[in-house]
Amino acid sequence: MKRALITGITGQDGFYLAEYLLGLGYEVHGLARQTGLEHIRGNLLQDVPPELYQRCRLHAVSLDNFPGLYRLITKTSFDECYHLAASSFVGERLADGYQTIQNNIASTHYLLAALHEFQPQCRFYFAGSSEMFGRPKEAPQTEQTPLNPRSAYGISKVAGYHLTRNYRESHGMFCGVGILYNHESPRRRPEFVTRKITLAAARIAMGSSEKLQLGNVKARRDWGYAPDYVRAMHAILNHDQPEDFVVATGVLHSVADICAVAFSHLGLGWRDHVETSDTFYRDEEEVPLVGCAAKIEREVGWRLVTTFEEMVRQMVDADVARLKPMI
Ligand code: GDP
Repeated sequence: MKRALITGITGQDGFYLAEYLLGLGYEVHGLARQTGLEHIRGNLLQDVPPELYQRCRLHAVSLDNFPGLYRLITKTSFDECYHLAASSFVGERLADGYQTIQNNIASTHYLLAALHEFQPQCRFYFAGSSEMFGRPKEAPQTEQTPLNPRSAYGISKVAGYHLTRNYRESHGMFCGVGILYNHESPRRRPEFVTRKITLAAARIAMGSSEKLQLGNVKARRDWGYAPDYVRAMHAILNHDQPEDFVVATGVLHSVADICAVAFSHLGLGWRDHVETSDTFYRDEEEVPLVGCAAKIEREVGWRLVTTFEEMVRQMVDADVARLKPMI
């Protein structure tokens, strides 16, 4: 039986990856902050079946608890480590991003150093992000596109990416990177625009008279489905060679497209319920963030299963189901 360690197991991707690896017969260990574990124990994590986490071995070690991390890694040997944990708000101003940069870089470095020291055979996955391309000079982006991060989060991910590549190239570890574009699901946090829209659409369909305040509805992203993307993470670590792969749909949709699919699924016209607000406005990229997943499709055989429309409708249905018991 293979044993995997997931950092950030209480997040959206950690949840789906744990579910996927358990289904493949892995023994799954997860790192989470004490508060994250208390949320699991108190059943406070939104809509998460507690059985899933009961089947995992959870460790209350936050990533800045370096002695705790060392203790775990010296005690238990892992076949695969998926490093998903990171502070992740892209809209954060660079000037406010000290914690994001420091924590994300230091935790990645520590984890790699500890694995290299005590179990260099463990395969390491680094959760890269399209934010590493920031303001790209070309579209679609590939593994060769120059990195040009424009946020504290993006900068921390570029540093993590270079750390990961260094441990691969200078220390011979099996370190793979997935450069993942936005990926959503019913477990996405509501500060992300997809979930903000599906939640509001569900509330409005159930009688709320609110107006949904959004930033630029013409803003476009390459939005994929999180459960499809965690399959890519596993495939990257189980490929013959440790490499970097863009994981994306290759298709751009606008915020207005999300609104159209979400509201029409509930028999509503989105324009009647949406207002634009400067508060949420962010400058649009001149060259859009859209990824080319040809390499992972060709070399690893990864395929997208769920379409954008199916994903948004699934998110709306999940939000309606969540809200129903409340009315
Ligand atoms: P990000 O790619 O990690 O920034 O994901 P988000 O879901 O936060 O934002 C995706 C896109 O939606 C960005 O281009 C935002 O500028 C745009 N957007 C438009 N209105 C909103 C809004 O009200 N909230 C958020 N979070 N994003 C918005």
